[in-house]
Amino acid sequence: MAAPEHRASVMAYIGLGSNLADPCAQVRHAMDELAVLANCTLCFRSSLYATAPLGPVAQPPFVNAVVSLATALTPLALLGALQGLERDHGRVRDGTRWGPRTLDLDLLVFGELQLQLPGLVVPHPELDHRAFVLVPLAEIAPARLLIPGHGHLQDLLAALGDQDEIRRIPDGAPSVVIAKPR
Ligand code: ADP
Ligand code: MG
Repeated sequence: MAAPEHRASVMAYIGLGSNLADPCAQVRHAMDELAVLANCTLCFRSSLYATAPLGPVAQPPFVNAVVSLATALTPLALLGALQGLERDHGRVRDGTRWGPRTLDLDLLVFGELQLQLPGLVVPHPELDHRAFVLVPLAEIAPARLLIPGHGHLQDLLAALGDQDEIRRIPDGAPSVVIAKPR
């Protein structure tokens, strides 16, 4: 019998976001679901952060977080699994960019990979200037993490401006969050 094929694990970082239907619970539940995803091992979970919504759409504040996942999935298979979880959380895609959502799961970094496909860009193209990604990422990733095409995490963090648009939510805090608009 042929030996089973073993694909080496790659460290991936996943961004989580929600601003509908109990956002803290959505994010915590999604972390638990990522922890049992096939062919993946969840390594670290960041704190949850309350952040102001992005873009022109009037909507509630967001809750954001990041997890690290050692995965043997391909990038496209991992994206498929993330989109499956978004659907399970009742996410409706109406084409509105930056609109409200029960759950947003973004593949931020996939090891040293740089990829530009119509449905998947890695590293996530907006990550280098988003405090709500970089701050939780820095909680769980090495300061020297190299984000391919963007540089080291610590340098991206240092280049961020005013960070008071993001506030760490204490563990076990109730789900209502208040953040100033950006
Ligand atoms: P956003 O997270 O930017 O608000 P969406 O979650 O609505 O946008 O995703 C829009 C599309 O972005 C998805 O259909 C997905 O195929 C694509 N996409 C491209 N790169 C990535 C990535 N790195 N992570 C998640 N989705 C991505
Ligand atoms: Mg997304």
